[in-house]
Amino acid sequence: MKIGWTANGRALHKQRMFQSLALAGMIIAAAPGSAGGIAGVDVRDDDVVVRFDGRIDGASAFLLDAPRRVALDIDGAQMGRFQFAPGKGSIAAVRQGQLNSGTARVVLDLSSPATLGNLQMAPDGKSLSFSLQGVSDTRFRSEVGKGRTRFDAPVDMAARPQKRIHSITVPIPAAARGVALPAVEGAHDGARPLVVIDAGHGGHDPGAINKDNGKREKDVTLAIAQAIRDQLVKSGRVRVALTRDDDKFLVLQERYGIARKLGADLFISIHADAAENTEAHGATVYTLSETASDREAARLAARENKADIINGVNLGGQSGDVSSILIDLTQRESMNISASFARLLQREAAPYVPFRSAYHRFASLMVLKAPDTPSILFETGYISNEADSAFLSSRDGQQKIARGVARAIEVHFARKLAMRDGTAGG
Ligand code: ZN
Repeated sequence: MKIGWTANGRALHKQRMFQSLALAGMIIAAAPGSAGGIAGVDVRDDDVVVRFDGRIDGASAFLLDAPRRVALDIDGAQMGRFQFAPGKGSIAAVRQGQLNSGTARVVLDLSSPATLGNLQMAPDGKSLSFSLQGVSDTRFRSEVGKGRTRFDAPVDMAARPQKRIHSITVPIPAAARGVALPAVEGAHDGARPLVVIDAGHGGHDPGAINKDNGKREKDVTLAIAQAIRDQLVKSGRVRVALTRDDDKFLVLQERYGIARKLGADLFISIHADAAENTEAHGATVYTLSETASDREAARLAARENKADIINGVNLGGQSGDVSSILIDLTQRESMNISASFARLLQREAAPYVPFRSAYHRFASLMVLKAPDTPSILFETGYISNEADSAFLSSRDGQQKIARGVARAIEVHFARKLAMRDGTAGG
C-alpha cells in the first residue's frame, strides 16, 4: 500500500509531515484504481494547472491560515508523481496526499497571502486551473473563514450529483449499541444541505435539573430540537434529521456519528446550561477548541462530556496523533465554518432569544469532534434560572428559539451557495 503525504519542492513543515507519514497509513487507505492519477502540477508564477492522467469527478479548494496554505480536494483522483519547480509567485511548495480511496488532496504552501481566482475544470475532466492573487493579511484571514469554493464542472459532469464535497476516513470506535439512522425530513431534493439537530442528554441521563421546579434539561432539549425540525420542514429549504426524537440515551460519539453517517453539512447540539448562581441566564454558543476560552468553558465541557461516563462506556476516542493530523487540515476548516456559524446564530437569533454578552465560547466538547462536520453546541439558556427555565419549557420560548436557529441555518447555506456560484466573496 503506497500511501501518505509526499513533498515536492521546499517543504515548509517537514518534521510534521514525517510524523504524518507514518500515521497517515493508519487512517488513509488508497485503493488501486484507474481514476485520474495526478500527472503534474504546473506552476507559472501565480497560475496553476493540475493535470491528471484520467478523468476526475470534481474538485474544491479552500484556504488555511498559520501557516498559509491552499488545499485542493480532488474527487475521483489518486496521488501521482510530479515535479514542482518554484516560480516567482506565492507558492513555496506543493505536497499531495490521499484523503480516502476516492479523493486526493494537493496542498500548496504559500510564501505570502493570496486568494484563489478563476477556478476551472477542463471540459475533458483531465485538468484543473486557477490563479492566485496576492492580498493583505487581513483579507486573507477573512477569505479563510469563507470555506470551500468548487471548481466549475464541465457540462456533462453536472449530471452526476456530488452530494458530499469530500469525506475523510477516520476510525470511529464501534458504538456500544447499534444505532439506527434517523429519518431525513424536509426538502425532498437530496442535493439540499442536511442539518442534524441533536437534543442533548436523554434516557437515564437527565442533564441539568432545576432544583425548584424540577425542569429537566433532557426534556427541554428534545422539545426545542423538535421545534427546530418542524420549522425547517415547514420552510422546506434544507433537509433535517434528529439524533433522537424521543426520550432515549445516546453516547456522544453516536450523536456525531449519526451526523457523519448521514453526510450532514451542519451539526447542532441543543443543551441548557446550569450554574450554582441562579442569577446566571442567557444563551451561549460553543465551538470546538482543545483550549477552553475560560474556566467556565472548561467546567461546562467537563459537565457535558460526562454524559458518556454515566453509561460506563469508555470513549477515549481518537489518539492524540490521529487528532493532530485531522486538526491540521479538515478539522481546522470545519472549525472555521463552525465559528462563523456561531456568530451568525447570535445575529439571527438575538431578536428572539436573550444571549449572554460573551455569547461565543470555546471548549473541548466531545460531541463537537466530528472532524469533517461543522458543529456547534447551543446552550439555549440556564435551566437553573427561573425565567430562563420557564422560557425554555414554554411552547412560545421553544418556537422563538426554533425561529432564530432556522433563520441562521438558512442564511448560512444561502451564503455558501452564493459563494459556490461565484456571486459573492469575489
Ligand atoms: Zn447539556
